[in-house]
Amino acid sequence: MKIIMLGAPGAGKGTQAKMIADKYGIPHVSTGDIFRANIKNGTQLGMEAKQYMDKGLLVPDELTVKILLDRVAQDDCKNGYVLDGFPRTIPQAEVLDKALGELGEKIDYAIDVDVPDENIVKRMGGRRACLSCGATYHIEHVPPKKEGICDVCGQELVLRDDDKPETVQNRLNVYHEQTQPLIEFYQAKGVLKTVDGTRDMKDVFAAITAILEA
Ligand code: ADP
Ligand code: AMP
Repeated sequence: MKIIMLGAPGAGKGTQAKMIADKYGIPHVSTGDIFRANIKNGTQLGMEAKQYMDKGLLVPDELTVKILLDRVAQDDCKNGYVLDGFPRTIPQAEVLDKALGELGEKIDYAIDVDVPDENIVKRMGGRRACLSCGATYHIEHVPPKKEGICDVCGQELVLRDDDKPETVQNRLNVYHEQTQPLIEFYQAKGVLKTVDGTRDMKDVFAAITAILEA
């Protein structure tokens, strides 16, 4: 099963992708997590990506597509995966489509987690991230057991640089211009499913599993 999560930054793609990955035993592939791991490790890719990420801009397709194609070519992805944060542009989607087509494969579902901009701004300010293991929390909706500390790996939680209010508005503008057109792209392919992402995360997940198991 190959699944793409679509939706604005902060819509809950990562939250749902992790739940899908756990339930169906497929890897959660987040280009954002891959970039953040590279930033943390001080790699060349990380240094280049950070310049764009901190401004709320997309990392150029040339950098992004390669890391994603390398990742999904790994062994653990052979029975499927859930992509979170990729594709974010039409050219990225086209490259993915072509690469899958050459293997006789295709995306089974593109799930759009639909949340209006007003809700997004509130959510992002409350998001706390663990840069070590990629776990995500929310100070109101999903608090860690111990304030500021990751439940999974015990590292310190941070407000991501790109979740600061001045950057969130840029990210939303970029989303509407460059990423939202993917909704039509996948609709035309007959794989688009939309869920109401404003509901409680368990209800959003129930809506997604109903789609995947229909
Ligand atoms: P994305 O991967 O789309 O950027 P996240 O999954 O990281 O978004 O979610 C953004 C923030 O909103 C996180 O702090 C997360 O804990 C919280 N969140 C996710 N889904 C919901 C929901 N249905 N209701 C309330 N808060 C949510
Ligand atoms: P995310 O963790 O998915 O919110 O991604 C954080 C940031 O990483 C984005 O705002 C972009 O700067 C960058 N990024 C992640 N995935 C992509 C992608 N597919 N294309 C371009 N930039 C990306």
